[in-house]
Amino acid sequence: MLLKTLIFNSMRMLIFMTLHGVIPMSTGLNPWEVALKQLDKAAKAMNLDPSLHAILAKPKRILEVSLPVKMDDGSIKVFTGWRVQHNDARGPHKGGIRYHPNTNLDEVKALAMWMTWKTAVVDIPYGGAKGGIQVDPHKLSLGELERLTRRYAYAIAPIISVDADIPAPDVYTSPREMAWIMDTYSMLKGYPEPGIITGKPLEVGGSEGRNEATARGLQYTVEEALNVLGINPKGATAAVQGYGNAGYFSAKFMHELGMKVVAVSDTRGAIYNPDGLDPEAVLEHKKKTGSVKDFPGSTPLASDPVEGNKKLLELDVDVLIPAAIENVITKDNADNIKAKIIAEAANGPTTPEADDILFQKGVLIIPDILANAGGVTVSYFEWVQARTREWWDIDTVRQKLRAKMTKAFRDVYNKHNEMKIDMRTAALVLAVGRVAKAMEIRGIWP
Ligand code: GLU
Repeated sequence: MLLKTLIFNSMRMLIFMTLHGVIPMSTGLNPWEVALKQLDKAAKAMNLDPSLHAILAKPKRILEVSLPVKMDDGSIKVFTGWRVQHNDARGPHKGGIRYHPNTNLDEVKALAMWMTWKTAVVDIPYGGAKGGIQVDPHKLSLGELERLTRRYAYAIAPIISVDADIPAPDVYTSPREMAWIMDTYSMLKGYPEPGIITGKPLEVGGSEGRNEATARGLQYTVEEALNVLGINPKGATAAVQGYGNAGYFSAKFMHELGMKVVAVSDTRGAIYNPDGLDPEAVLEHKKKTGSVKDFPGSTPLASDPVEGNKKLLELDVDVLIPAAIENVITKDNADNIKAKIIAEAANGPTTPEADDILFQKGVLIIPDILANAGGVTVSYFEWVQARTREWWDIDTVRQKLRAKMTKAFRDVYNKHNEMKIDMRTAALVLAVGRVAKAMEIRGIWP
């Protein structure tokens, strides 16, 4: 009886957590296994030296930290965090910090590997890293969040530095947390070190255009993709899954291109309007109510948020932008995808099986390591500015970003045509090739 009640309660809890977005609407596939499969596929296509493959299939360093935090009620809670450094053959490790209740070491390892490929695809002089804390930040007070962030900064301080590893924002972290980390690190050093982290507020050494950068870079790649497919952005349609930083700005920039953003979503619901939604007004609504759900003039895609998010992915649109979490496009729904272009604002939204199906169907994927590389590219600009103490205006940032993204898109697109491989594998072949070359030239020491 007791067992029955226990099982019933944990099922209820699971359903509650799924509905309320605590558990991502994914298949539970392990992102690290996905990342390794992608690497294998690229290695095969490019005939990668097996020793280099073996080195790249493991992160260079993993740090796990235990983070005691004094809570507002006087109790102490211990959180777990990680910093994974995957590779630094081409330059210092670089990558964001994620706060999420479901994050774990395998996810952080995958994200770190993807950062190595991402910085190589856009050819900026960095390697790859990622950080994470297993926490639901929405359940902490501002004070608790600050104490947790500072404790994490202190705990990873031994392995980060302006020349070794430069963190940045990721899911559920923002310029506010970056400022706390910059401050904590600077206090430890005894002097201000704005180059230690990117994605900071402008007032403490941030860059113009960093906040919009992920979506701005995505916009430039979508423009290129529309162009090669001969689709006029004016009147074309888009759907965006997720309405955080990358999702909101992506919707805004697609709208600015003249596209109709017919659907957007968050963990609480997916909304639809065939005549197009106004991304700015949707953001205002989200700020007021906490969700895009029930936006006036829209209809819900389903009453259940998980179902709504699923339906959004299958809409008949020109451009689909997954901007939430991993593993949302899988072998189970890839066949139902009707979009002509998938621009991956999220990291790892498509599984390898889904990749194969979509390639057969002729869907043009702008893979995450290309589509969302605008974020880390402007991070690089921020780091250069912080180190030189010279500041660029927004037009300079956008112009330099467009140049980087356009070149990267064309390099990947040409490789995809030349080798007759899917866009993700083409991006990986390019990226892995650059990293492998750097490793070869540097050699193994001792
Ligand atoms: N978290 C972002 C990403 O996944 C940005 C990383 C950075 O700017 O270093 O690309």
